[in-house]
Amino acid sequence: MRKNIKIIGSGFSALAAACYLAKEGNKVTIYEKNSTIGGRARQLKKDGFTFDIGPTWYWMPDVFERFFNDFGKKPSDYYELIKLSPAYQVYFGVNEFVTIADNLPEIITTFESIEKGSGEKLASFMKEAQSNYDIAIKDLVYRPGVSPLELITVETALKVNQFFGNISKDIRRRFKNKKLVQILEFPVLFLGAKPSDTPSFYNFMNFADFGLGTWHPKNGMYSVVLAMEQLAKELGVTINVNSNIEKIEVTDGKATALVINGEKVAADIILSGADYHHSETLLDEKHRAYSEKYCKY
Ligand SMILES: Cc1cc2nc3c(=O)[nH]c(=O)nc-3n(C[C@H](O)[C@H](O)[C@H](O)COP(=O)(O)OP(=O)(O)OC[C@H]3O[C@@H](n4cnc5c(N)ncnc54)[C@H](O)[C@@H]3O)c2cc1C
Repeated sequence: MRKNIKIIGSGFSALAAACYLAKEGNKVTIYEKNSTIGGRARQLKKDGFTFDIGPTWYWMPDVFERFFNDFGKKPSDYYELIKLSPAYQVYFGVNEFVTIADNLPEIITTFESIEKGSGEKLASFMKEAQSNYDIAIKDLVYRPGVSPLELITVETALKVNQFFGNISKDIRRRFKNKKLVQILEFPVLFLGAKPSDTPSFYNFMNFADFGLGTWHPKNGMYSVVLAMEQLAKELGVTINVNSNIEKIEVTDGKATALVINGEKVAADIILSGADYHHSETLLDEKHRAYSEKYCKY
């Protein structure tokens, strides 16, 4: 049955969810509190200049391909993607930097020039990272995320030791040069955790970096937001800006309406693409899953 679905926010998560839900035949409406869409990836225009205010690293182009392919489209239908060469430079001081090439063989040569023997170690580290990428990004991340048991598969069971060791120790065991260690520890920071708190299995982020490369859409990251907006509209999604959600109303234990700029709007399903803690504050306290104390921790 066609459901009336209201979505809070217009970041990547909300836009992606809106596309999938509209494709299923639902009536989907997005409410964004700001005057423009994109959330943390939105754009700032000032004094004739245009800035991306959030993301700049376009990694894992395969994930974007897969998203657009799900709708019979491809990223190039909406924006031009450029592989950066070199990928980037890491600065350790004013004139002290390491250049990361856009291909693994050259990166291996760079490593070898900094620490003898590290080139071969990098090649074997990257093989492991690639195998983990194939498991994690091609399968695990597409599971619904409702139970930790989803992480247990034949492939991950064979790599169980990599869930107990951390990536920092693993890298430092293989590489001694401080700069190389820092370069290899950097990608997992994107996951929001310290390398010393991140299981070795997550070295798939190193494959995303050195193996798949760093890309950038020709007109900046906001091109991706505009692409997703266009797709959402093609699928029939309605997008409202300047629409602050003040409250999620609950009836008989079910979220049934939103209060938007003082006006109540009914919904069959409410989905929030806003931060988890903020979304919970839109509910009366008795309906929240976590306490303030837990969220602060
Ligand atoms: C400075 C910076 C640099 C980054 N760099 C990178 C990078 O290089 N590569 C990368 O992959 N990622 C990067 N990220 C992370 C990436 O930008 C975010 O993970 C992503 O944009 C989050 O999308 P989202 O949809 O989950 O949330 P958000 O983008 O936060 O979207 C939430 C939306 O909900 C709206 N909202 C909130 N409350 C309400 C309300 N009550 N009513 C209505 N609307 C509401 C917000 O205005 C917002 O539009 C970076 C982030 C930042 C901030």
